[in-house]
Amino acid sequence: MRFDVVTLFPELFGPFLSTGMMGRAVASGALTVRLRSPREFGIGRHRSVDDTPYGGGSGMVMRVDCLVDCLESLDADAPEGVRAHRVLMTPQGAPFRQATAIALSTRPAVSLICGRYEGFDDRVRAFVEEEVSLGDFVLTGGEVAAMAVVDACVRLLPGVLGNAESATHESHSPALGGQLEYPQYTRPVEFRGARVPDVLQNGNHAHIEAWRRAEAERRTAERRPDLVLPRNEPR
Ligand code: SAM
Repeated sequence: MRFDVVTLFPELFGPFLSTGMMGRAVASGALTVRLRSPREFGIGRHRSVDDTPYGGGSGMVMRVDCLVDCLESLDADAPEGVRAHRVLMTPQGAPFRQATAIALSTRPAVSLICGRYEGFDDRVRAFVEEEVSLGDFVLTGGEVAAMAVVDACVRLLPGVLGNAESATHESHSPALGGQLEYPQYTRPVEFRGARVPDVLQNGNHAHIEAWRRAEAERRTAERRPDLVLPRNEPR
């Protein structure tokens, strides 16, 4: 899978893309990332990419022409001619969920457009397919949100996680009905009086499965009642 990231700060992605699972995904060829700055398409001697807002107000707004030139240049030299599905990173977008990651990870190429300053000239919206928000808060720029999207998508790609079940049986995944994951434990069996539940140690897989299902339901109802749907309702 390929990600094209439009960012004024491509250097932020260096350690992210070379460390741990992301580094391995890049090395194996499962993940390709192209970083391109709208600054390359900036205006004048200073390569300006922002300007003051029409109608007045504080801060600067990212120019639509520089952004669209950047997106079109990515299309023009796209590997194998595969044009990316364009996603605008914005606190005004649809909340990013596991379902969003699953859907994006099936695409061959996705571009993530990161804003800065006061955000984008609204006309850029006509040039994207989707708008995504990391959550109901405002970041300084779209880069951290874009990294979250890349991370959540890449771990779903075949062969990226050592154990494919890790990606399918965890919180918010369809295999767990969109619920939170059951509690997990490892050694030591006792820590400061807190013991690993006996059921996990008795080797009876049917009991373990039943316990995990019940714990996932209990935990979800307690922590995220908004995720609990009436029985048989599709998620
Ligand atoms: N003035 C904009 C607004 O109220 O919608 C916010 C601009 S924000 C300071 C600068 C940039 O950070 C945005 O253009 C966007 O790319 C990114 N950003 C901020 N919060 C975000 C979020 N919750 N999800 C995704 N991107 C976000």
